[in-house]
Amino acid sequence: MNRISDDDAAEIKASEEPLPPGLYIVATPIGNLGDLSPRAASVLARAGTIAVEDSRVTAKLLQRIGAKRPMTPYHDHNADKVRPGLIARMAVEPVALVSDAGTPLISDPGYKLVRDARAAGIAVTTIPGPCAAIAALTLAGLPTDRFFFLGFLPSKEKARADAIAEVAHIKATLILYESGPRLGATLKALADGLGDREAAVVREISKTFEEAVSAPLADLATRYAELAPRGEIVVIVGPPGERAATTAEDAEALLRAALSHMSAGKAAGEVARATGLNRRDLYAQALTIKARD
Ligand code: SAM
Repeated sequence: MNRISDDDAAEIKASEEPLPPGLYIVATPIGNLGDLSPRAASVLARAGTIAVEDSRVTAKLLQRIGAKRPMTPYHDHNADKVRPGLIARMAVEPVALVSDAGTPLISDPGYKLVRDARAAGIAVTTIPGPCAAIAALTLAGLPTDRFFFLGFLPSKEKARADAIAEVAHIKATLILYESGPRLGATLKALADGLGDREAAVVREISKTFEEAVSAPLADLATRYAELAPRGEIVVIVGPPGERAATTAEDAEALLRAALSHMSAGKAAGEVARATGLNRRDLYAQALTIKARD
């Protein structure tokens, strides 16, 4: 794991001014501790209390930055009971909100805390940072101009199929969180409900075994049918209908890149799969490129 660099540590130490009272929503790393921003560390180190999902997880983060702060458990099972007390504290001291990893409120607790804090006239600010959904979107190589976040799909088959049917006509890239053991079934349900769209399984972002596997949904469903991958997973599904139009220049560039390390037949297959262009035409083009070069 990466450590906070000396430069970062100096910057964090430099800000020793007390924080004004309020609610500070603090994003934390999703794998690589080096992704904790200096500002996030500085706020955590100065918070009166930190509302946490799991104090053991946040204690490790605090240890990394050499801070010891009081923590208040705030999770799905106690939120309604704990919230009024936290709101009262925010009026007189800085209260930070973190989740176990990533951006609080995104498939994590917190929105009611923000809602009630704002309603009570408390100053609310956010310290932005890692979020698995957005990080996966940047890795998937699928359209990013419009996207729709689904969080976790229901685990029961019928409810999952219904949830997928609800979004089938949305003209946007879809983002879903999933776990390894459920990935195969989810990909199959997505292929059944959405058709064979381009998709990506993005795993272990910012960790040693980070990977992004891109293929049509049906191929991904086959690939992961038996093999439950380890680690944390985001599934990205491209929008319905049109594949991104590929120009003749794009196709030639893709073919050339593929030909640098594979045969004409394989290169044509790869580029056809990635672009939806005709494999036979691409094969002929690949042979022409080879003969020309
Ligand atoms: N609030 C978090 C965020 O901003 O990303 C998400 C919390 S949600 C309870 C946890 C899910 O996020 C995991 O089950 C996984 O689907 C996804 N996730 C978290 N870290 C990840 C990582 N390093 N790589 C891939 N997916 C990750």
